[in-house]
Amino acid sequence: MPERIKVFNTLSMKKEQFVSMSPGQVWMFVCGPTVNDYMHIGHAKTYVFYDVVARYLRHEGYDVQFAMNVTDIDESIVQVARRSRISVESFVRKYMNYYVEDMKKLGIETLGRFERVSKYIEEMVQQVSGLLSKGYAYRVRNEIFFDVSKFPRFGSLSHMSVPELELRPTELSEDKRNLLDFALWRRPPVDGISFSSPWGEGWPGWHIQDTAYTMSIFGPQYDMHGGARELIYPHHEAEIAQAESLSGLRPFVRYWVHCGLLTTEGRKMSKSEGNVVYSRDILRKYGKNAVRLFLLMQHHRDSFEFDEYTLRRVAGEFQLARENLKQLKQYRGRSSNQKRVHAILAGFFEAMNDDFDTPQAVDLLNTIASEASGAPPGSTKAEDYAGALELAGNIFGVDFIG
Ligand SMILES: [Zn+2]
Repeated sequence: MPERIKVFNTLSMKKEQFVSMSPGQVWMFVCGPTVNDYMHIGHAKTYVFYDVVARYLRHEGYDVQFAMNVTDIDESIVQVARRSRISVESFVRKYMNYYVEDMKKLGIETLGRFERVSKYIEEMVQQVSGLLSKGYAYRVRNEIFFDVSKFPRFGSLSHMSVPELELRPTELSEDKRNLLDFALWRRPPVDGISFSSPWGEGWPGWHIQDTAYTMSIFGPQYDMHGGARELIYPHHEAEIAQAESLSGLRPFVRYWVHCGLLTTEGRKMSKSEGNVVYSRDILRKYGKNAVRLFLLMQHHRDSFEFDEYTLRRVAGEFQLARENLKQLKQYRGRSSNQKRVHAILAGFFEAMNDDFDTPQAVDLLNTIASEASGAPPGSTKAEDYAGALELAGNIFGVDFIG
C-alpha cells in the first residue's frame, strides 16, 4: 500500500501521513443531514468533497467503507412535519428520499451506508447504560448527562481549555453538575414522540446518536471522521468523550477532517437566514459536472462564498471544453506514454496527496482538457490525453468526455 497521502488532522492541527488502521482498508464516517428540508449547496459542498476523498482512496487501492447517518430524531423535523400536516414518519421518508435523489444527481457514488439513526436506539441506550455504569455519566430524574469532569481530554479536538469552552456553553440545564456536561438521554422535547429506556420515555442526546451508529458498524476505533467545521465543538468533542470513555481505547478516530462553511454574502447559509440555495435547483440549471468542478475549486478547509456568477462561468467553460473534446469519444483505452501527459498527471496526484488539494488538482485537470482539445483526432497524443482525462475525471466524478 503506497502511503503517500498527507491529511490535515484537526486533532493535531498538522498534515500527517495517512496510515489506515488495517492495511488496505479505510473506514470513514461523515455526519449526515437532518432531514427537515431539501439538500442545500452547503451540504453538497461537504458531500462532494468526501466523495472525492473516497474515490481517491479507492484509486490508491484502499477498500473504502463510507457511511453517513441520517438524523431523523430532531425537534425541527417534528415541527415542520406538523406544520405540513403529515406524519413525522412520512415526512422523514419523503425528505430522506429527496436526499437520496440529490446525492445521486450530484454523482455521490461512494457512499455505502446512509442510514436513519432511529434504527440504532437500542445501541444508544446500551452506550448510555455503559457510561453510567463506568461512572462517566449521572442521572438527574429521567435525564442522563455526561460528566465532563471525568474526561480530562475534553477540548482536545477544538484545542480549547475547559475555561475557554465554558464561555461557549451549548446546553442550558439547571440539572447539570458542570457547565459543559451534555445530555445523553433527555426528556422528550415534543409531545407524542418518545423512545423507551430504563430511565423512562425520552430522547437520545444528539452526540450519542453518532457514536451508537459508528461503533455498531465500525467498532470502537476507525480511520476518518468528516463534517463541517462548526461540528467540532460540541458535537465531535462529545463523540470522542463518549467513545473513548466507553472503550478505553484512543484515539477513537485517527483523522478528523473538517470542511469550511459555505456562506452567502458573508452569512452562513441557513433557513433561518433566508438565503438557502438548494442543490436540486443548481443541479437543474448547471448540471452535475459543473457543480462538482465549482465546489472542488475551493479548498475544503476554507470557508467559501457561494457566487452564482462564478458557477455560471465554470459551467460555460466546461460546456465548451466538452464540445472541444468530442473527438476523444473514440477513446479506446490505449495506455498513456506521453511525457507531457505524465507530468501533468503527476502534478494532479501530488496535489491530491497534499491534503486533497482539489483547487490545484482542478487547475491541472483543466490544463489536460485544454491541451487535449488541440490533439489531432485519432492520434496517439489524443489517446493519451483522453486516458488522463478519464483517470482524473473519475476521481473528481466529472465526465469531460461523453
Ligand atoms: Zn454528527
